[in-house]
Amino acid sequence: MLCKRVAVITLISLALGSAHAAEPAAAVARNDASGAAASAALPAPVTNPQFRIRPVDDAWRARLPRDADAATQAYMDRLPADVVARSNAYFEGGYWLQLWNFLLGLAISVVLLGGRRSARVRDWAQRVGRKAFLRDALYGGFFAVAGWLLSLPLTVYQGYVREHAYGMATQTFAPWFGEQLIGLAVNTVVAMLAVGGLYAVIRRSGERWWLWGTVAAVGFSVLGMLVAPVWIDPLFNTYKPVENGPVKSAVLAMAQADGVPADNVYEFDASRQTTRVSANVAGIFGSASVRLNDNLLRRTSLPEIRAVMGHELGHYVMNHIYKSIAEFALLFLAGFLFAQWAMARLLARWGERFGLHGVADVASLPLLAAVFALFMFVATPISNTLIRTQEIEADRFGLNLAREPLGEAEVDLKLTEYRKPDPGPIEEFIFFDHPSTRFRIHDAMRWREAMGTP
Ligand SMILES: [Zn+2]
Repeated sequence: MLCKRVAVITLISLALGSAHAAEPAAAVARNDASGAAASAALPAPVTNPQFRIRPVDDAWRARLPRDADAATQAYMDRLPADVVARSNAYFEGGYWLQLWNFLLGLAISVVLLGGRRSARVRDWAQRVGRKAFLRDALYGGFFAVAGWLLSLPLTVYQGYVREHAYGMATQTFAPWFGEQLIGLAVNTVVAMLAVGGLYAVIRRSGERWWLWGTVAAVGFSVLGMLVAPVWIDPLFNTYKPVENGPVKSAVLAMAQADGVPADNVYEFDASRQTTRVSANVAGIFGSASVRLNDNLLRRTSLPEIRAVMGHELGHYVMNHIYKSIAEFALLFLAGFLFAQWAMARLLARWGERFGLHGVADVASLPLLAAVFALFMFVATPISNTLIRTQEIEADRFGLNLAREPLGEAEVDLKLTEYRKPDPGPIEEFIFFDHPSTRFRIHDAMRWREAMGTP
């Protein structure tokens, strides 16, 4: 589910030019090393040698304190100190990467604007494309490719070197880079359509470009949510129905209980790229499909899968996708208003020097992208909190539906592979788009204590 929302932001930031690789599809990524109830017939799982959880048995679970705080601590104590230290280092490094990505995006904008490069590309696109839409689309394609090239060193470090250093990547360089090229091709097409469309709207709406720009950006994001599961996701992974068995039956039973119109469950081969575990309910306007990755299938027990899928179905039942669209539409509106204010001043001061003919001139896209990226960077705690709030809701919905607090806690521990398990409250507010391990386990243990279940 998160990956769909990341896609919203990615599409917009792409349309506006912060041309960075999308986050690895870490939807409700969850990780496990314990159970095998669901995976007897499947190949051996790919695992991260740097990650482990102290195993326990039924006797341990029988002794688990009834008190939520004490039970939460008992689970947290199963994370070895070196595993916690590694997780903290990985996740906190991500804070800095957000900053470096933001600063790199600004630097790319400066490089493109400098020496009137952006204006010269616009003039070239005008000669080649002639028509305004084609000119702007060509410029958008240039922008996507230039951004990709200039950010390639950081992309290689963040997406390949660092993921391998932390034991989560499963690809060698050639296939990884091949996927980057596929991503570049997709991004370039998306950028051409998005930039062509966005500037057509901006040109026609005069002073109110910020309003219609928001409408166009939101509309384009919704289009992306429709298209991505069908046409884009299969470029990177193979999707196939889950075999008949306890997992499929359990997921479909929960879907049926809550009126989710799913008649099949799909798995995809995320182990091609990563050791991470994830699942999502993708699509919008009736195209919903329940999808879980092979790492989840192979490395978790049935109670854990039920807990995860209860969470995913919660996103669907609570209409989180539509609420997200409304919330992010407001955030984008604020971003475009800020952009309108900032662009007027920046263009008055620098426009002529860089050969830019106003906000409707596609050559000013790097400036718009920089301004919008600044807004979204500062608004990170807001966007994270909007998403995290829904994730907490989905956790609680999943507990009510699946009634598996121990399965939930077990899978929450596994999330520590790539998410800091026990942050401070301010840190969680600013940086976490999903609740932390401790927060989630405490929710599960509170449910267990109050409901008096095993
Ligand atoms: Zn979720």
